[in-house]
Amino acid sequence: MKTSLNDHQYILYSKQMLLADVSEQGQLALLNANVAVVGVGGLGQLVAQYLAAAGVGQIHLIDDDKVALSNLPRQLLFNPTDIESNKAHVAADKLQQRNRDSKISAHSIRLTSDNYQLLFNTISPQAIFDCSDNFATRQLINRIAVEQHLPLFSAAISADQGQWFAYLPESMLTKIPRTNTRPHGCYHCVFPADSLLSQNCSEMGVLGPAVGIMASMQALAGMNYIVGRHVEFGVLHRFDAKRLSWSKATMAMDKHCCVCR
Ligand SMILES: [Zn+2]
Repeated sequence: MKTSLNDHQYILYSKQMLLADVSEQGQLALLNANVAVVGVGGLGQLVAQYLAAAGVGQIHLIDDDKVALSNLPRQLLFNPTDIESNKAHVAADKLQQRNRDSKISAHSIRLTSDNYQLLFNTISPQAIFDCSDNFATRQLINRIAVEQHLPLFSAAISADQGQWFAYLPESMLTKIPRTNTRPHGCYHCVFPADSLLSQNCSEMGVLGPAVGIMASMQALAGMNYIVGRHVEFGVLHRFDAKRLSWSKATMAMDKHCCVCR
């Protein structure tokens, strides 16, 4: 565990630490943080870049997908020469070269209900970033967050409709004092597994900057959490990428939810 910064780090992270409620203490929290990023596509490759550049100490990138030509307009970490290579490995290699303070590991697997326990017991992250591109994986990641008592920072976008939220399992409310945070619904409370929400950007299309906005919100919420700032958990933020407008709704708890109840 790091308890002090060296001269290089004082300069490198100086603009972050100038924020009074981040300061050196927040930077040390980032350097000591351990997070999982599930999905290294449009959302995940940007979330991972921001987290690594900010000095997050351990980042686990989880994705079995390969870079494709049609990814390049929005997945700016990847080059044409990366096509057909595993996204998690390519991203980990590039981010590791650029960011010496982060230990970045690649897990070239598709997260399933059969393999997640072994993986999460091994990597022991303190937060999950859901950057997946499909409904089934989002449901699984939500279940993992509830079971493993992990805060979840989730984003998704399909065509011109984006959304993001931060979720804190009820089991963590007493452990981490956060003002105004009350028990709230999980992803499954709001979007039950039988919802008709199978569309993703591979079927619907999307513009690169719209993905970047959602990823930025997700990364920012997660960093605010790590440095100890207040995070508004349990609110679903929706973004209309045509009108450039936002709306939000409370994530109401379903008292019959089979995941979090
Ligand atoms: Zn629930």
